[in-house]
Amino acid sequence: MEQAFQCKVFNQYGSREIPNIACECRHGNQHVFTDMVYLESLKIDNEDRLIITSLTNRVMPFIRYEIGDSGRLKEGNCACGSPFPMMEMGLCRSNDIIKTRSGKSIYPSYFIHLLDGLADIQQYQFIQSEPDKITLNLVSPSGLSSEAMSSLRARVRRDVDENMVLEINRVDEIKRTISGKHRFVISQPTRSSAWP
Ligand SMILES: [Zn+2]
Repeated sequence: MEQAFQCKVFNQYGSREIPNIACECRHGNQHVFTDMVYLESLKIDNEDRLIITSLTNRVMPFIRYEIGDSGRLKEGNCACGSPFPMMEMGLCRSNDIIKTRSGKSIYPSYFIHLLDGLADIQQYQFIQSEPDKITLNLVSPSGLSSEAMSSLRARVRRDVDENMVLEINRVDEIKRTISGKHRFVISQPTRSSAWP
């Protein structure tokens, strides 16, 4: 974006429910709009989760709302001089991270690049429903060649886990989440399976 528009681009953090949470300053730190939100971070399931109270929404109260993002408040002062406290976001949500039986964590970026160079893929989603199984749902009119499918399976066994099974399904569509997001990678632990 900076290349295309020839200007500095700043990151702003907000959501549909709570639009103004934090904004990046010229030193690259995210400052929390403490005049509009009360932001907390709580350790839940070994992950720092953001808990937000909106101070401006008088129509629908959001009080200690778990927004679904991970992140935490940062100590100290920023060189920009802003009195607003700093925060940092987690890389991604914990249920976007594929975890193997051996305890390895694989971030979504790995799976997003796995399909690089393959043609005719309109939508895709990787879902880990069991510790040793990932399902790749693809919307692709012509589908993948058998060489492409065996190459994907071999790469997953090599990079993720030697026992990881990759099941590839062609589907008509991939539904968005209730908030309208398309999730590329979902780790969906089931209670019955022994999750690492
Ligand atoms: Zn700053």
